[in-house]
Amino acid sequence: MERIKNKIKKALENVIIGSKNIVKLGYIKKINFCKNSKKFIIDIILPNPTLHFRDKIINYIYDTIKNNIEENICIKINIIKFDVNKKKSIKYILAIASGKGGVGKSTIASNISVILSNIGYKVGLLDADIYGPSIPTMFGINSSFISISSNNGLINPICKYGIKIISIGFFSKYGKAIVWRGPMASKALIQFINEINWGNLDFLIIDLPPGTGDIHLSILQEISLTGAIIVSTSQKVAIDDVIRTIEMFKIKSIYVPIIGIIENMSFFIPTNEKENKTKYFLFGKDGVKNISKKMNIFFLGEIPILKKIQIFSDLGIPAVMKDVEVKNTFIKIAKNIINNIIN
Ligand code: ADP
Repeated sequence: MERIKNKIKKALENVIIGSKNIVKLGYIKKINFCKNSKKFIIDIILPNPTLHFRDKIINYIYDTIKNNIEENICIKINIIKFDVNKKKSIKYILAIASGKGGVGKSTIASNISVILSNIGYKVGLLDADIYGPSIPTMFGINSSFISISSNNGLINPICKYGIKIISIGFFSKYGKAIVWRGPMASKALIQFINEINWGNLDFLIIDLPPGTGDIHLSILQEISLTGAIIVSTSQKVAIDDVIRTIEMFKIKSIYVPIIGIIENMSFFIPTNEKENKTKYFLFGKDGVKNISKKMNIFFLGEIPILKKIQIFSDLGIPAVMKDVEVKNTFIKIAKNIINNIIN
């Protein structure tokens, strides 16, 4: 039995996550033989509680054992607990992604961050959109005096409305284009995660640049994300692009679980038609819902076009802080996100 157990352990070294194998990563706690069931029981600890990750690892282990051990053995995988980034100070890292620019990705990243913070979570927000960092504007951060922590030498994030914020925009002059080559931008963004004085966070929300590209690939390979949240509008051009983004997260070497998709700018109700609630689907109807069904991605919720979202956004105040209708819309979405990650 001991010989087979060692063989199993050796075989499990072929299950690679990121650049390390799961034995080295400490996922394997115990391998026992159960005399009653005649099965080898592999007790594992996972760092990521999402269903997608769990299924992927389990299938990966079964396949690896089948392909590496000649003996006809039966195994059972037993998840004993989820050790969510215990060693690290950030519990959940969520990327907000879109296919196209201008669909409301940063607006959603900002408002979701505020809602999570209102619920009582410790939240950090990393604006990684090098093409158009808009988080400073959305949070009304005009001057970004960057300080260094005297305790650990790390860059302090700027705290606004209870959220710790770092934007790539803090490191460029206002109105000046950020013309960094892909590798330079990726390197800077990875440093933003590892070398910022985030302290203990429940959630780090990353506002990714739109689309797919080198920068996405390197960030996603480097950082262990809990999951991605996709934002789109329903018109065809946005849907075509968002499919590419969804496919990117499914690439084996990246492999990021998709928590769900949000439809933004779903419909518009003119003020004079509020009574009978006539909806105008300016960007198409049900495009995001259909793609969520087709690609088996959880539909997290819809956000109508509301002038107040844009107005508060431009004033530097996430609209959820000022308006009950917007707040309730985002609470629903945030609860769906939390349920999909934690429960
Ligand atoms: P992205 O990050 O995808 O480029 P932004 O979040 O910057 O998009 O949003 C683009 C513009 O649309 C902003 O001016 C924002 O205020 C506005 N906007 C986003 N969502 C809505 C909405 N649901 N209703 C009204 N305006 C919105």
